Amino acid sequence: MVAGRRGGATPPLQIAVASGKGGTGKTTVATSLALSLAQGTSGDAASSPPTFLDCDVEGPNAHLFLAPAFERRQDVAIQIPRVDAAKCTACGKCAEVCQYHAIVVLGKKTLVFDQLCHGCGSCTLVCPAGAITEEPHTIGVLETGPAAHGIQFARGVLDVGEPMATPAIRQLKQWAIPTDGPAGRVVILDAPPGTSCPVVEAVRGADTLLLVTEPTPFGLHDLRLMVEVAAELGIPAGVVINRDGIGDAGVDAFCSAAGLPILLRIPFERAIAEGVAQGRTLVEIHPEYAPRFRALYQQLARQVKHHGRICR
Ligand code: SF4
Ligand code: SF4
Repeated sequence: MVAGRRGGATPPLQIAVASGKGGTGKTTVATSLALSLAQGTSGDAASSPPTFLDCDVEGPNAHLFLAPAFERRQDVAIQIPRVDAAKCTACGKCAEVCQYHAIVVLGKKTLVFDQLCHGCGSCTLVCPAGAITEEPHTIGVLETGPAAHGIQFARGVLDVGEPMATPAIRQLKQWAIPTDGPAGRVVILDAPPGTSCPVVEAVRGADTLLLVTEPTPFGLHDLRLMVEVAAELGIPAGVVINRDGIGDAGVDAFCSAAGLPILLRIPFERAIAEGVAQGRTLVEIHPEYAPRFRALYQQLARQVKHHGRICR
């Protein structure tokens, strides 16, 4: 569904940067896009530095490139059910509704497996005996603060061993994405690798999706999966080909057949690989990429204008 302005507010344009797998240069692209927008404005480009969200809560690394100074923190918690054995009739309704098999009834006992629970609250809602209460369980922390060139940086970090990335990403977005602001404000969402639930949560609600891939059969395989995710969510997408020059022409052929615009090509180059390994962004290694990223942004903004804004 698409929408325009809500109640006079100007919601920021949300650009999600994703790739079907890790190691494609997704964070290199996302951080360089953020820096390029922060360094200069032109036309209807960002009129204030963008907000950057590192949604890879299991392995955040964008801070290595954007050097934020964290000023505010907040725990991420989910609500875990607790069963009052004195009230529980062992009817089994809670176990029936739980998609994650996190609550089970064994004989006359109802057990909760905290590590499987997603904190969705369904069991509490359906319990006819009022036997379930909820208690918060901390799974990680959210952090935010200013970064390079005035970028507002935020990230989530899951506690070691916590498997619940999706609620942490959801809370990060609710906490850190501004709901209003100057026209042209941009939010860049650096999605986790893969195509599973955490990625869907990260990109859901974005106005446009920038897919970073490499021109190899593996890259093509993962690009196809992400294009399916984008289609399912109704988000227009564009492609950045990283390490251009290796592999084959399969990605180009796929993009052409699917009507996917290739917005930028980054060549396979030793200087880039070495610079990134030292924590430098692409636009620091090759400043001539900054206007190219701003041009890429303009193409995405036009695409969004044509497609319409996502209704969140
Ligand atoms: S739904 Fe309520 S009463 Fe029924 S088994 Fe679960 S906790 Fe017990
Ligand atoms: S809160 Fe949701 S995930 Fe957790 S036990 Fe209840 S139904 Fe299952």
